[in-house]
Amino acid sequence: MKDFEYLEPATVPEACALLKRAAGEARVFAGGTQLTIVMKQGLLQPRTLVNIKKIAELRGINLDSAQGLIIGGLVTHREIETSELLREKLSVLCDLEREVANIRVRNMATVGGNLASGEPLTDLPCVLISLDSKVKITGCAGEREIPLDEMFVDYYQTVLAEDEILTRVVVPLPPAHTGVDYIRFSSSSVVDKPCVGVAARVSVDPQSRICRTVRIGLGCVAPTPMRAREAEKIIEGKELVSEELERAASSAAGECTPLSDLRGSEHYKREIVRALVKRAVPQAYEKAMIR
Ligand SMILES: Cc1cc2nc3c(=O)[nH]c(=O)nc-3n(C[C@H](O)[C@H](O)[C@H](O)COP(=O)(O)OP(=O)(O)OC[C@H]3O[C@@H](n4cnc5c(N)ncnc54)[C@H](O)[C@@H]3O)c2cc1C
Repeated sequence: MKDFEYLEPATVPEACALLKRAAGEARVFAGGTQLTIVMKQGLLQPRTLVNIKKIAELRGINLDSAQGLIIGGLVTHREIETSELLREKLSVLCDLEREVANIRVRNMATVGGNLASGEPLTDLPCVLISLDSKVKITGCAGEREIPLDEMFVDYYQTVLAEDEILTRVVVPLPPAHTGVDYIRFSSSSVVDKPCVGVAARVSVDPQSRICRTVRIGLGCVAPTPMRAREAEKIIEGKELVSEELERAASSAAGECTPLSDLRGSEHYKREIVRALVKRAVPQAYEKAMIR
């Protein structure tokens, strides 16, 4: 690993100014679980690391009555897993974290790093996308809030400018009679990164049993986490019956663009998407009917 300058700003504006000063030669350092690996591999050789761990405002999980759940960029996977607030309001997030990496990684790795790395083999982003989450981004020019799915551009690429920091994730609270489900499939070991992840969010009208809003988030099967928008449209506005579910699952399998790799062939991954959509959507639907 090459020598680098190591800085520890105490505020977001200070961190942004340091990033700007380095003109593309610096990287934000949060948990370091991804960055140290790519630095050791020589894939990235930043001249400066801007460690943001001392910035208090990036911490914490809170409930805002207008916006919903606010998750700070420095919140770790383990904090999500063990958060009583999330357990009460959106337990799917706590449950999925139990399967992310291993306890050592979960203790260090942050939500901000998970999203900002643009890493394609992740769990959290496709669930957050299915929840219509937004991200708050701060740079020297000011602050902006964008839908999370608009942040991802390509493999390991996001819209974040070189002086910008992901400061928080905003997750709207789902309305009553909404069910959310996430299924991850790992084709090698359970502690490996996922091969495919499918998130489903379904809001129903319990009287008519009609699906009002449907979100299907897919992870690991495209350059970025994505929504299976055509599949969502097939189910939305109707009762969930097996014919529509079959069509939606086929649509989702066709909408994604997985790569063949050591975790499975393209065909295999599409079949896993098909199978998991057929499982996750009815599970979300059942939860929605009883909530
Ligand atoms: C062994 C192992 C297993 C894993 N398994 C899984 C898994 O099963 N599921 C899963 O989802 N993930 C998995 N991961 C990925 C893990 O979740 C990420 O490594 C982690 O979330 C990155 O967070 P970090 O804080 O360590 O980021 P860092 O390594 O510090 O940074 C990663 C990148 O994001 C940038 N960055 C970090 N924070 C910010 C911010 N707030 N604003 C702007 N840019 C920022 C950095 O500059 C860097 O480019 C695994 C990782 C490892 C090492």
